[in-house]
Amino acid sequence: MSIYLNEKYRKLDPYIPGEQPQDKKYIKLNTNESPFPPAPGVIEALANESGGEKLRLYPDPSASVLKKELASSLGVDDDMVFLSGGSDEVLDYCFTAFCENGVIFPDITYGFYEVFANLRKVEFKKIPLLDDFSINANDYIKEKKTKVFANPNAPTGLYLPLSKIEKIASSDREHLTIVDEAYIDFGCESAISLTADNPNLLVVGTFSKSRSLAGARVGYAVGNPDIILDLEKIKFSCNPYNISALSLTAATEAVKDKAYFDKCRNEIIRVREWVKTELSKRGYNCTDSKSNFLFVVHPDYDGKTLYLELKNRGVLVRRFDIPKIENHLRITIGTKDDMKFFLKTLDEITEEIKR
Ligand SMILES: *Cc1c(COP(=O)(O)O)cnc(C)c1O
Repeated sequence: MSIYLNEKYRKLDPYIPGEQPQDKKYIKLNTNESPFPPAPGVIEALANESGGEKLRLYPDPSASVLKKELASSLGVDDDMVFLSGGSDEVLDYCFTAFCENGVIFPDITYGFYEVFANLRKVEFKKIPLLDDFSINANDYIKEKKTKVFANPNAPTGLYLPLSKIEKIASSDREHLTIVDEAYIDFGCESAISLTADNPNLLVVGTFSKSRSLAGARVGYAVGNPDIILDLEKIKFSCNPYNISALSLTAATEAVKDKAYFDKCRNEIIRVREWVKTELSKRGYNCTDSKSNFLFVVHPDYDGKTLYLELKNRGVLVRRFDIPKIENHLRITIGTKDDMKFFLKTLDEITEEIKR
């Protein structure tokens, strides 16, 4: 740290992203990326950009083409959609814009919420999950503060039904209920359908997981047009060109190809359920994950040992040094071949441990 860093940032603990090691090729099951390439139309459109025109010029700061395409696919009006550089950025803008009376989120959830709260000097309270890792909606209903949670939650994968979300949002119209739906496409119903009747509900989404575009950095929010204008105000006050021209093109093409999107997510769901069955047969406890990952623990094996041994053998999974879940592993669903290799490797490791 230099002597120049402002006092208010000296104690900041940044978010620690999942490893992206460059030393060798791993089977990457640690950051919930898609194992499938982006839609064919995305690759084609990018290849057609070889003249460099899109890089020479500034991108459209209103992202109007993508906005139109996305709004229509989500079944909402254009003015209900905000687009930004990854949903992390959308969430940061939310913490910047809407949380001056404090914010609450689950104690076990996406680690970035706490980082944003600290960065934006927002008071926060962590609400413990129930023992089965589910969110207790009643804990949120009592609180007169901005509410943020991921649905399905990460890293648990558990889904909170829409009726509960509606109860939370309607219990406190003076504050936003922000639902981070990074994993909604893997088998759950989006809360976007509730935004029409709940003007304080904001739904955040991303192209990083179900649309195979983590590297493009495109995220969005859907909600009441006035809230969207607030987010635009923040965006145009710090980085109007926050989505690169190539990313806008990629995301637009990805939205257009509904068939490919459905094919990929259905395959992830299918493989997830297969891996879950296989792990259960081996004595692992898996939550009822509705995401593109499983959250698992074994009564006899130490999570850190499994994580390290898997890494030694070329398979990366995610483990969190957090009380209550330090023995758990979060395993991204890859291709069926990836997961076969994962299971085979896991079996080798546990055979060795038993010997
Ligand atoms: C992956 C993830 C994000 C971040 O997505 P980006 O759009 O890539 O920034 C946000 N929230 C949750 C819960 C996530 O898992």
